[in-house]
Amino acid sequence: SICSVSYGEIDFNESFIFIRMAFEVFHIVTAFGSLFITTLFFTKRTYTSFEQLQLEKNELYDIANYDSLTGLYNRRKMKQILHKYIVQWEVLNKPFVIAIGDIDYFKTFNDIYGHQSGDLILQDIGKILLSFLREGDAVCRWGGEEFLFVFQCQEPIALNILERLRKHIEKTPMLLAQEELHITMTFGVSEIQSGQSISELIENADKKLYQGKNNGRNCVIGSSHAKL
Ligand code: GH3
Ligand code: MG
Ligand code: MG
Repeated sequence: SICSVSYGEIDFNESFIFIRMAFEVFHIVTAFGSLFITTLFFTKRTYTSFEQLQLEKNELYDIANYDSLTGLYNRRKMKQILHKYIVQWEVLNKPFVIAIGDIDYFKTFNDIYGHQSGDLILQDIGKILLSFLREGDAVCRWGGEEFLFVFQCQEPIALNILERLRKHIEKTPMLLAQEELHITMTFGVSEIQSGQSISELIENADKKLYQGKNNGRNCVIGSSHAKL
């Protein structure tokens, strides 16, 4: 009989313990489960805002470095590049050349065909300019219809590239509402000299550009001649 009583008690305790264990397991599972879900939720939220930040960062980078109409580098970015080139010139004696290209009679073009057509021409010209660059060269939209180039070489080679570019622009018809239009550009070129600053170099290229405009436009003017 002792045996049967204790058997009954054990039986009672066992089912009690079993229920308690089941509850505890349930609590642990729900606790970990909610912890898991909460973690998942916050991780996802952090990740989403991180992605958002990354997108905004890229957008800001583009605004700071590229011209929105042509997609070329802007003036600010080109100043950084020129700074790098002048350091390489001063430290390593690596020469470089800059050129300023300006579209001829662009005001007249806008007056005849409208500002929007002018914008399309600027975009097309931008693509052509890029296609003539080699590794180490760069071009930017310096202002309205002016573009500034930097070439990692000496002047005769840069003059050669620009002369080919000038001829290409001259003979390439720009398509505008089924009309074929011909655009020309004038270029002023200048090679870095020892002791010269970036602004002096730019001023020099600007003078050459001015000379080219006075010489009848559609030409490339530097201090030497193209090595053709
Ligand atoms: P030149 O041969 O002497 O360079 O004559 P030009 O008419 O090109 O020179 P000017 O400096 O007198 O005029 C530049 C014109 O470029 C004025 C403006 O209407 C036009 N321009 C500047 N920026 C833009 C632009 O973003 N879009 C368009 N469509 N036109 C622009
Ligand atoms: Mg101009
Ligand atoms: Mg012009």
